[in-house]
Amino acid sequence: MTQVKQLAAVSAFLQRDHGHFINGLSQPGGGALRPVIDPATGNEVARVHDGCAEDVSAAMAAAQQAFLGSWSEMSTLARGNLMLKLADAMEQHREELAQIETLCSGKTIALSRGLEVDQAVAFLRYFAGWAGKIYGETTEISLPSFNGEKYRGFTQREPLGVVVGIIPWNFSIMIAIWKMAAALVCGCTVVLKPSEFTPLTMLRVAQLAADVGFPPGTINVLNGNGGLLGPLLIEHPFCAKVTFTGSVPTGRAVGNAASALAKPATLELGGKNAALFLADMSVSEMVDGIMEAGYVNQGQICASAERFYLPAEKMDEVLSVLIQRLSQLKVASPFEEDCQVGPLANKAHLEKILKMVARAKEDGDEILYGGYSPERPGYYFLPTVVKVHSENSTLMREETFGPVGSFLAYDDEEKALQQINNSPFGLAASVWTHNFNKAIRYSERIQAGIVWINMHTFLDPALPFGGIKSSGNGREFGSAFINDYTRLKSVMMRY
Ligand code: NDP
Repeated sequence: MTQVKQLAAVSAFLQRDHGHFINGLSQPGGGALRPVIDPATGNEVARVHDGCAEDVSAAMAAAQQAFLGSWSEMSTLARGNLMLKLADAMEQHREELAQIETLCSGKTIALSRGLEVDQAVAFLRYFAGWAGKIYGETTEISLPSFNGEKYRGFTQREPLGVVVGIIPWNFSIMIAIWKMAAALVCGCTVVLKPSEFTPLTMLRVAQLAADVGFPPGTINVLNGNGGLLGPLLIEHPFCAKVTFTGSVPTGRAVGNAASALAKPATLELGGKNAALFLADMSVSEMVDGIMEAGYVNQGQICASAERFYLPAEKMDEVLSVLIQRLSQLKVASPFEEDCQVGPLANKAHLEKILKMVARAKEDGDEILYGGYSPERPGYYFLPTVVKVHSENSTLMREETFGPVGSFLAYDDEEKALQQINNSPFGLAASVWTHNFNKAIRYSERIQAGIVWINMHTFLDPALPFGGIKSSGNGREFGSAFINDYTRLKSVMMRY
């Protein structure tokens, strides 16, 4: 099958001296050079300078200046139009962005195009549509009138200021756009800190934004070590809010650093998402559902299911058909058009998953399929099927963030529901059945920020997304984001 040919624009981009994008300009900075590794080969494809305290100050100052000046002086309509122009530019550069993303993350080229870039464009357009639609309220004021004077009160939503967005490696464009677009349409400006594994894509997007006319300082990208730059960004006096997507331990550190300074933080953290299949589903329906819920992008989606609850009487047959389907998936270079299993995103992640599978064996779980890396360069790991015998198994409690499905049989739906809720996480879940009455009732009882019925992992910009319990707080999308990126001001007048 066809191997995608690298675009000349991508080859030229990789050769550049990369660092940051600050105040409308690409700025390499002078920090240590960090290699960018292609996870499909283990080879270096580019180098990026690490940021330092001076770069943080420069990015925050540029963002603050734009917030107080050019961005706030622009009409809401003009801001929305710029966001639409950026969406158009991203669409025109779709292949280029998709190739850079695949090189950094190992995502198959089809997913980089269709999920990463196209979804980012769709979300950007959705948020652009909110321009001019962020409203306050008016209210009666009940103070006494002595000489016929009257009163009126109203509220207005004000942008918070400079938003620091900290981005993980699994969707380096889409998640950055979620945060950036929400902030910009509310009138905030942004400093984005991509993961050190995927530092290139947002540099390119920021350049496209400058090319379509975003004022300097509106969108800044700062690369480097998160442990060093994260605290500096959050503690900076110009940081008005932090929005973070990533792991639970880092998210807690981010939340603590922000709350110590009374700064608001939106935290989108990990999960151990469950999928409950009721016995009325056929074996093939269950297998289709499991493939959709657990194995897209090698399971490196925060909302992917990792805990599967199957009716005991169908468990063995479902797993046997599932293994047959997984074994037919094509393991290949993510640049092959028909690749279905590419590498994991980085070496550290592969090592973490291998350790978790070793622990599963110690727990007495049965690895029925996969569980190891195939013989080839890069950080590949086969889709894995694990039959667990206890809800206390490590694999039922800790996130792998990989293609590792853990399957627990149940005899009693009520007990399965209790087990699903007996988790420190609460990001996402799904219920699969033809019995809609049960589906709705169970969706009400499952403790998660989003529950899908007969589907899994689909996000829509109109429907709020975010977790409960250890999976975070705050909501993105829908109208919910407005609360997170603006503050309410009350105005009272006498006339
Ligand atoms: P990490 O938490 O390791 O990193 C996320 C980001 O935080 C990176 O940019 C990282 O920089 C930065 N960072 C690291 N240390 C600090 C710090 N002390 N202060 C501030 N920022 C810091 O997550 P991963 O990138 O490994 O992403 C995978 C995790 O993200 C999974 O657990 C997954 O569940 C979760 N996730 C959640 C989603 C959701 O919406 N709920 C969506 C996608 C992923 P650096 O790379 O330099 O370390």
